[in-house]
Amino acid sequence: MNAPVPGDARAVPWRACASRPSLTRGRRHAEAPAPTRDDFQRDRDRIVHSTAFRRLVYKTQVFLNHEGDLFRTRLTHTLEVAQLARSIARALRLNEDLCEAIALAHDLGHTPFGHAGQDALDECFRAADPASGGFEHNLQSLRVVDVLEERYPAWDGLNLTFETREGILKHCSRRHAQALDALEPGGVGRRFLDGTRPSLEAQVCNLADEIAYNTHDIDDGVRSGLLDPAQLLDLPLYARYHREALVDHPGLAGRRLLFDTLRRMLSQQVYDVIDTTAARLDAFAPADADAARQAPALVAFSENLAAEVVQVKAFLREKLYRHPRVVATTDGAKQVVRDLFQAYVLQPQALPPPHASRAAGRPQALVDYIAGMTDRFALREHARLLGPQATAALQPGIDPDGPGPLGG
Ligand code: MG
Repeated sequence: MNAPVPGDARAVPWRACASRPSLTRGRRHAEAPAPTRDDFQRDRDRIVHSTAFRRLVYKTQVFLNHEGDLFRTRLTHTLEVAQLARSIARALRLNEDLCEAIALAHDLGHTPFGHAGQDALDECFRAADPASGGFEHNLQSLRVVDVLEERYPAWDGLNLTFETREGILKHCSRRHAQALDALEPGGVGRRFLDGTRPSLEAQVCNLADEIAYNTHDIDDGVRSGLLDPAQLLDLPLYARYHREALVDHPGLAGRRLLFDTLRRMLSQQVYDVIDTTAARLDAFAPADADAARQAPALVAFSENLAAEVVQVKAFLREKLYRHPRVVATTDGAKQVVRDLFQAYVLQPQALPPPHASRAAGRPQALVDYIAGMTDRFALREHARLLGPQATAALQPGIDPDGPGPLGG
């Protein structure tokens, strides 16, 4: 067990294997400590004040940003993930601040138009630079905090700690991991080559992300009218809490029944992760944060719940993400990204000056520019470069005047 270190004194002590700011592997550029905040709190604050964080409000989660004001955006999704990660970390006596920093940054690299934009950008990047290994949003999130934010006089990026950067890089292809490790030997790319795990706090954020989107996509799916609440009863996880809600509140119907069911489902997933993980941490008893990285994945759902979560994901994939109306909007969004990439390749002078000089012959710079766009900025650029009719033709959209069966 680590000896208590000044600054780590807390009302409820951290678990031995929690990440401690006093033991951080540090920042890429040395900085004096902040007078009132530890290193992970400082990371969180830098993320909240970044430009990329503000853009999340106009980036798509599942439904395009203009389709309705009540759907999740990347920003509200991010805040839900941070809330869930903090709750889980607090109960497990892990580091809440590190969880919050990772969660707030986890989607900074997402392109406009969600996964559709990402797929299109990946395709363009691979075609323009076959050696690039393509576009990965987790790697892009790391690029945002390491390279693309321009806020400090002496360095690029936000100069975050190793632990926050490690958590942001949730997935990484072997090829990209090798490239990262060549630039930063033994750094955040290493674990993908060694097959080890990230910190427990990073593992908490990964599950918090899953819990958030599996639950809120059901809510948004019903709100949009694309999911029929009756279909949800095919899902054992949903059906169980639907029954429970009706036992406690006979006659409950409509929105309140949906919300009560989803609230119970969300809580159950959180409690399940806490109980399962607490049991695993007790069994493995990692001596410190590094020992937890060498252990098997310790933050997990129970086997039963994991199986039910797989069913929820398969259901959402089939009934929502592949719904013809969602596919129609995502096809249009992909074309917007392809058109923008092509237009900038043909006329680099159409880019604002600093980007125009960076992008000359460098597809990576174009990718960075497009990935940083919000949905509405991408649509405005598309209309400017290709004409408003071309943009309008690519936006079939979900009818904003046709709210779901439960209303707004
Ligand atoms: Mg996410």
